[in-house]
Amino acid sequence: LIEFKDVHKWFGDFHVIKGVNETVERGEVLVICGPSGSGKSTLIRCVNRLEDIGKGEIIFEGRDIARRDVDLNKLRSEIGIVFQQFNLYPHLSVLKNVTLAPIKVKKQPAQEAEKLGLELLDRVGIRNQAHKYPVELSGGQQQRVAIARALAMRPTVMLFDEPTSALDPEMINEVLNVMKDLAREGMTMLCVTHEMGFAREVADRVIFMDEGSVVEEGTPEHFFTNPQHERTKAFLREIL
Ligand code: ATP
Ligand code: MG
Repeated sequence: LIEFKDVHKWFGDFHVIKGVNETVERGEVLVICGPSGSGKSTLIRCVNRLEDIGKGEIIFEGRDIARRDVDLNKLRSEIGIVFQQFNLYPHLSVLKNVTLAPIKVKKQPAQEAEKLGLELLDRVGIRNQAHKYPVELSGGQQQRVAIARALAMRPTVMLFDEPTSALDPEMINEVLNVMKDLAREGMTMLCVTHEMGFAREVADRVIFMDEGSVVEEGTPEHFFTNPQHERTKAFLREIL
């Protein structure tokens, strides 16, 4: 479904992504881990064009989405993203946060968008918070709103950039559980996360990035029990 072909990116002189080649199949859950600064966020941000790449191709459903002439609104409705900081609109209710893009970008009738929005809030377990404002919610609830908001566009792919890193420990699982449900329903997911329990249980494949390159990849089984590279081993020693 997504193919990275020799993807490079520079920030000025700094070579941040150094030739990534990966294929993500439909329905696959790919977990991306690696030390701080290794380029994980940059790589997934390239997939919905929050960053432009410097060289290479990212093929999504047969099109190179790294090209300048790509319709970004369309791309971003097909590829949703959830960030560490939830980035909700503080002046809008929970439900309006979820329905805004479908109404504005997809021109969905308000009633229809609200119906879907409530369904999605139900799915992430916070339908009863629909008329509150983000500030009235816990971090875990806000992050679940952010997931519902991304799902409201009916994306084909979901990108997650450390969605639980800003949460208090007791709220991490409520967000991971929503992600697990999504994975089970067959969503294609690229998840930057250090939640190795999630990776073990849900990932089809884990890749380890260091200094802009994919150093190691494999099934969770391989990755956790039999990593080949010294840098992967050192990383796992540190976080497990
Ligand atoms: P973390 O685990 O800390 O989130 P990461 O693997 O997600 O790290 P990135 O955010 O992708 O790392 O950043 C990779 C490198 O690129 C870092 O050295 C960072 O300082 C640099 N970088 C990121 N964004 C920019 C930018 N807009 N301009 C210049 N350098 C940047
Ligand atoms: Mg990051």
